[in-house]
Amino acid sequence: MKFCFDSKKFVDHQTQPEKLAVIDDRRELSWMQFMKEADLICAYFKKHGWNKQTKPIIIYGHKQAEMITAIYAMMQLEIAYIPIDHLYPKERIATILRLAGTEIVINCSAIPLKLEGTTELQINNENLQIIQQATVTTKDKNEMPDPLVYIIFTSGSTGEPKGVQISTEAVRSFTKWMTGDFGFSHDDVFINTAVFSFDLSVFELMTFGALGATLLMNDTKTTTNTENLINRIEKYQGNIWVATPSFALAYTRIGADPGLDCVKYFLFCGEVLPHSLATNLNKIFPKARIYNTYGPTEATVATTLIEISKEVLDKYNPLPVGYMKPGTKIIIDKVNHEDKEGEMIITGDNVSIGYLNNEELSKEKFFVHNGQRAYRTGDLGYYEGELLFCMGRNDDQIKLKGFRIELNEITNIIRKHELVDNAVTVGLKRNTEVKKIVTFVIPRIKGDIDEIKESIISHSKKYLPFYMVPGDIFFVDDFHYNMNYKIDTKKLIELYLNHNLY
Ligand code: AMP
Repeated sequence: MKFCFDSKKFVDHQTQPEKLAVIDDRRELSWMQFMKEADLICAYFKKHGWNKQTKPIIIYGHKQAEMITAIYAMMQLEIAYIPIDHLYPKERIATILRLAGTEIVINCSAIPLKLEGTTELQINNENLQIIQQATVTTKDKNEMPDPLVYIIFTSGSTGEPKGVQISTEAVRSFTKWMTGDFGFSHDDVFINTAVFSFDLSVFELMTFGALGATLLMNDTKTTTNTENLINRIEKYQGNIWVATPSFALAYTRIGADPGLDCVKYFLFCGEVLPHSLATNLNKIFPKARIYNTYGPTEATVATTLIEISKEVLDKYNPLPVGYMKPGTKIIIDKVNHEDKEGEMIITGDNVSIGYLNNEELSKEKFFVHNGQRAYRTGDLGYYEGELLFCMGRNDDQIKLKGFRIELNEITNIIRKHELVDNAVTVGLKRNTEVKKIVTFVIPRIKGDIDEIKESIISHSKKYLPFYMVPGDIFFVDDFHYNMNYKIDTKKLIELYLNHNLY
């Protein structure tokens, strides 16, 4: 059984209805059960006329199987969904709700969200229950040529997250590649580690359905405990491990051979794959194949692929990000013709149609090139033959432990604190990797510094997910400015390092 993006329906593909589709920490859903539960949600929506809802709906929870049934139900109904993990603070969810105009929330957790102006449907197993009701706008939908599938919100430098809109054409282009060029099959068990608000999770989320394979979900209780995760992978014979390099690094640090013979593939995306990590994995899992892929949320998960074989490890350090996926091109936009590297521009049918309700930013980042959608990534790269290498960024976007963060979003949130006169945020690096976020603050008053610091941190926690909350706040009397009249962050970092052990 599998989800077919062409007919947008579940189709009876195989003769193994008892085969597992989705596994969470409470339930093991066969394909038959999974389809039945997705159908129940569809029927419930139709009964209430919500299948005619045109606004994106929120699917909230943390690694419950119901999140997946709800997602697949929304795909059948052609209603765009916004996946939100419980790691987001309520204020951030409220902002997303406002930006998207959401009217319906599907809550797969046990705790009601009760967001203002929304109809909230709680789902637990096969039980569907309306726990809050508000007006739901419905409209007869015409046949849409390329309906939206999902919207993933990522950090936005203005101080608010931005919604990346991914359409059916983009998902179809992605799954066609995933089910073709990677060597995966319906017998595979995808090991999920990322939460569903991040586009890394789309790798396994869409591919298990397109193949009729199995999705092994792991909640944070499991992913933060090496032994638990290893036992679980072993129990369910997980064989495709999808993760950020930062995540895998924690597992190679345990040193000993975890004895996971079942793992056949490591699929990496989201940040630089360190040569040392790939070398280590190669030693610990000699039978596993390591894939490096590259791509931003704005171009549907990934756009390039390379298998990091022994030969590649011997030949390249740093490692390449790979070769282009079919139907997609990456153009290097160089400042001078003779430059080796430049900004990477992705063109193709996997590129997003733009940011939700944000025309200005969409115009800045998206355009049409030779009749194809194109996106300015902000990543710097170069080619060696057809092989692409990624060299870092040309803006203030960073990756911290695999999480995508725009430092200006943190700054803008902290500037809203009543005791803050001005602020700027930096990512402190060790070698090339960001290890800590520090916000430099000019306070409005000369009060108890520790108290002000605590108050700024708790203000940040209210609006930002945990991984964006600064690791430290450092108070200064004033900022220095460089020749371009920009805050001289280099000077601030020097000052910080003179005062702090890091
Ligand atoms: P996200 O939208 O969270 O997937 O983050 C996308 C960004 O992560 C890209 O624009 C790159 O800066 C970075 N990135 C993704 N994959 C890789 C990779 N394989 N190597 C280096 N950086 C990467």
